[in-house]
Amino acid sequence: MRAAMANREGTLLERAVCATEPEKGLPDAEGRLAALLEDVASSVPREDIGGVVLSSAGPIVPDTGIYEYPPNLPGWHGLTMKPGLAASLNLPVAIGHDATLGALAESRYGVGKGARHLVYVTVSTGVGGGIIANGQMVTGGHGHAGEIGHLLVRPGGQSCNVGCDGCLEGIASGTGIARSAQAQMDAGRSTAMLGKAGGDVRAVTAQTVFEAAAEGDELAIEIVDGVIDAVAVGFANILNTLDPEYLVVGGGVTTSLQPYWDDLAARIEDKALPHFAGHVPLHVSPLGDDVSLVGAAALAFDYADATAEKD
Ligand SMILES: [Zn+2]
Repeated sequence: MRAAMANREGTLLERAVCATEPEKGLPDAEGRLAALLEDVASSVPREDIGGVVLSSAGPIVPDTGIYEYPPNLPGWHGLTMKPGLAASLNLPVAIGHDATLGALAESRYGVGKGARHLVYVTVSTGVGGGIIANGQMVTGGHGHAGEIGHLLVRPGGQSCNVGCDGCLEGIASGTGIARSAQAQMDAGRSTAMLGKAGGDVRAVTAQTVFEAAAEGDELAIEIVDGVIDAVAVGFANILNTLDPEYLVVGGGVTTSLQPYWDDLAARIEDKALPHFAGHVPLHVSPLGDDVSLVGAAALAFDYADATAEKD
């Protein structure tokens, strides 16, 4: 868990970090998060703080902050930190989905500053997404919009942890890339990746695949090629559906894909509708790991301004 104090310019002034330790349960994590927030807020008079926005991985209902079977937070289903944090901090608390807040951050303070139509995608251990349309966050009828990771890009292909076969996350996430390599190695494909992983197939990671591809390993090149293709299919679908001014991409796999960026853009252009010819709005996130914190700050100021207008 990370906490930060931010100003109107989206600059993070004070920071604090602690381990999430989800197995200790939500109330325990909530207590430690409250302490982190007190820590970063200690240098500012409480009346100068507009509010707190919590950015969390989902599935989570934004209005209430209630978790719905979060896969990486076992035991947190049906619970929320919102009322407890608001009471202990004596500040208004709101909750947002991390990737949606990432999109908000990029449209306010990032590469798409001022954009009214922007999609943010993080390609990392998993694949997440957030959508800004007409200047507003798109949250969906149940708070679950923006699940770009589960766009089917190769129906019948490798499945993700949720179980959809051939979604973007199943193929192009860090987890998916490692799993592709391990499956091919289990099937007897020879590759320099085995030596790189100390002879242990289970020790092969996405990083191993990208390193081996750069060194000319045939299987690794094949996997990376499949990843680029899957990402291009997914991104072409996003462009065709939402017509964003900016498609901003972040996350660890994005960093590893940098040497292939021109190839990726060309394949997106090839698959998208003709009006994107020469205009594929593909950008790497300049906000990096801070993107959701900055987005949480943007939303906190929106709420503070809305409250001030009402008063
Ligand atoms: Zn999926």
